[in-house]
Amino acid sequence: MRPRALSALALGLVLLVTGCGEAGKSPEKAAAPASASPSPTPVTKPSPTHTTPAKPKLRPVPKKLPSGLHRASGSNGVALTFDDGPDPRYTPQILAQLRAARVKATFCVVGQQAKRYPELVARIVREGHQLCNHSWHHDVNLGRRPAAEIRADLERTNEAIHAAAPKAPITWFRQPGGRWTAEEVTIAKQMGLRPLHWSVDPQDWDHPPAKTIIKRVKGATRHGSVVLMHDAGGDRAQTMAACRHLIPDLKRRFGIALPR
Ligand SMILES: [Zn+2]
Repeated sequence: MRPRALSALALGLVLLVTGCGEAGKSPEKAAAPASASPSPTPVTKPSPTHTTPAKPKLRPVPKKLPSGLHRASGSNGVALTFDDGPDPRYTPQILAQLRAARVKATFCVVGQQAKRYPELVARIVREGHQLCNHSWHHDVNLGRRPAAEIRADLERTNEAIHAAAPKAPITWFRQPGGRWTAEEVTIAKQMGLRPLHWSVDPQDWDHPPAKTIIKRVKGATRHGSVVLMHDAGGDRAQTMAACRHLIPDLKRRFGIALPR
């Protein structure tokens, strides 16, 4: 999760708590007869390029994570997941580290990034790693949107991934910010994308020093953990430095495995 995502999350939570998240917004009634509206403003806005159409209400984020999420690796090994890329600066560094340690990881890629850096998506696949759809533009509210929008976002992201790496299996979906809804879990599953959460979050998106990332991961990781880190979305130098220690350490203590 990136800082921008965090502020969006914080804002979302505040709006949720105050219960006014989408107050005043209502679904657009394009078919309303003109005579039925006493409003001086026309229902259909004349200049759609300069206005934002009214959006449907967002469904609330449940207080508890919905059921059906994968939060464990499914084996004794630890699953490493890298989110928000691919990124031309950091993804190659992580790939080199993984290759040196001879382990595989899961990359939760953002559709826009995949479209921009297709060669990195192809390299992730070529080097034996696993792909996870992480939405088109890291929409932390995606799970709250209408089902058709969720589906379209995931499809668009899959298409960008497949344009870069045709036929590559996209095993997982991970909701940005972990703000899952039950509806979204259902849609992902219908599309053959398994919902992947995590169990260890060192909050590396907040730029703690490498030693803090190491301490947090080592303190929380057990057999079967799913570790969340980021290879994009900001300055990831500390994550890169932490991984130089963590990848060999976790491999030695638990083994590193792809989630299943
Ligand atoms: Zn993310």
